[in-house]
Amino acid sequence: MWLRSRCLRMGPPFDDAPPQPSMKILLAYPYCLEDRIHVEDAGVVPMGVYFVGAVLRETGHEVTIANWSALRDRPEEVERALRAERPDVIGFSVLNANRWAALDIAESAKRIDPKVVTVFGGIGASTLWKHFLTHFPAVDFAVVGEGERSFAALIAWLASADARTEEPKGIPGIAFRRAGRPFCSEDAEPVRDLDALPDPSRHFTYRHLALTRGCPMKCSFCGSPRFWGSRVRFHSPQYFVDQMERLHRRGENFFFVSDDTFTLDKDRVVAVCREILRRKLSVSWAAISHVSMVDADILYWMRRAGCIQISYGVESGSPEIRRRLGKSISDEHIRSAFSLTVSHGILARAYFIYGCPGENWETIEETLSLIEAIRPLSAVFYILDLFPGTALYEDYRKRSGATDDIWLRRIEDVLYFEIDPSLSSEQVTAFGARLRSRYYERLPRYAESVELIDRKELYGPHAEFLSRLAMTFECGDYAGVDAIPDKERVAETLYRRSLRYAKVPRAYLGLGILAQKRRDYDGSIEVLAEGLRRFPRDPQLGVCLAVSHMNTGDFPRALEILRPLEGHPEADSYIEACRRAVSERR
Ligand code: SF4
Repeated sequence: MWLRSRCLRMGPPFDDAPPQPSMKILLAYPYCLEDRIHVEDAGVVPMGVYFVGAVLRETGHEVTIANWSALRDRPEEVERALRAERPDVIGFSVLNANRWAALDIAESAKRIDPKVVTVFGGIGASTLWKHFLTHFPAVDFAVVGEGERSFAALIAWLASADARTEEPKGIPGIAFRRAGRPFCSEDAEPVRDLDALPDPSRHFTYRHLALTRGCPMKCSFCGSPRFWGSRVRFHSPQYFVDQMERLHRRGENFFFVSDDTFTLDKDRVVAVCREILRRKLSVSWAAISHVSMVDADILYWMRRAGCIQISYGVESGSPEIRRRLGKSISDEHIRSAFSLTVSHGILARAYFIYGCPGENWETIEETLSLIEAIRPLSAVFYILDLFPGTALYEDYRKRSGATDDIWLRRIEDVLYFEIDPSLSSEQVTAFGARLRSRYYERLPRYAESVELIDRKELYGPHAEFLSRLAMTFECGDYAGVDAIPDKERVAETLYRRSLRYAKVPRAYLGLGILAQKRRDYDGSIEVLAEGLRRFPRDPQLGVCLAVSHMNTGDFPRALEILRPLEGHPEADSYIEACRRAVSERR
């Protein structure tokens, strides 16, 4: 009996269906069990949640989306939100890594309100629905597979009078307890026409976009093909760019394009890029691709349309390990993709996995040789782990006789080396340390050896690319990494190179700050003054120039530069200091 007696808010009618009580639905994205090195990998609410939210809103329900991914150390905030929100239904977006938080929150939600209905969805729920329904009474339902239709049908049933006495019938893709035992209905059909889904940007603001669903590859460590299917479905360029434009008008300038492989259909991607350019959207975005699916033409259009970063799964420098991981790419593909990508002024990020079947010091050296050949400007190194829904996990279960009960342990995942007697924890830790330290040692050389294609229309983007990279060394992600040598020298070289392509304020500012750090205030004044002459409305250049003058004791000149910036948060404290200094001197 699932119906809540207080669900009496009436929503607008949907199609010709009779009006049903609207429900108050909270869609939550819980925190992972462990800290993340790269927040963007697990800190962003998956796109599917926004689609589910849009479908539910358009059927008259009240929907809130809560990103709780950063609240691991503040569970009391989650409880406070639950008490304030008092939802009828909570839908949890579950990954393997955040399943424990989802379970904990579901339990506290039931403590706060025993009538609340909890629904687990997402890739974690789709693979472990039986496990959740067997062991965790706080989980009422699971949505198995793509959530939009199944979740909407489940909510419609919950809102109906039938929910008082019956179990849900005729709803594909949901799991629940039948006579106390886990039961799953038939598989739901994947959404064929993706454009038929309501555009979530009409209802929510977010920074992730996707053009596709599905991946035709078969990497043994990845659960994506099983969830989304190996047949790829596409949004139209129009749908994609409409969404981007709507979000951009609301102030979003940077997007993560989170398709497994954005460049699967070259013509479609080029059409997207041309449309972004036609609409003059001043946006930048990062995408994920596959080394065998890019060429100079597609990269040219992507760069012109604002793409600044492409992530590629390289996994290993050992062809044998790549084969064992089901990664069908050649060294030639990898080299070509990296060289073409960076030559277009797009940062090529390489994802590597270590601690794999057959890993040893020789294969680690092979990976380091490949890194030397492709010179990635960003690299992420992960230890191979096992997730439900992957071929590696299924193989492990078959070989070992293990069951999903292993997930009753309060762990995020099982690291592959824990089940392979030929690998030890110490050894794998040493592999990782070697990969990272050698990579960081060489990174300045990689950054300084970037070669960009000579096309005039890309000079502006090249200047942006080089100055952004310089900033990463000067004050961004790399600035705090002790293992990277000569960071300020690299930043200076890159800033100066960027100015040879086009004048960008970021480069003047960076050079000015670097000179300040060296206490070369005259040098700093020279470069910042030139920057300010070219970009007189740039407040950061003005403030920074004024600070250099203050350091030389020329407070009247600093005040003169700062006066037009009065009211700007970065300028006010300096204006005050200058006024004090000037009046003290009088
Ligand atoms: S790792 Fe990437 S290419 Fe491989 S199956 Fe997963 S999504 Fe597809």
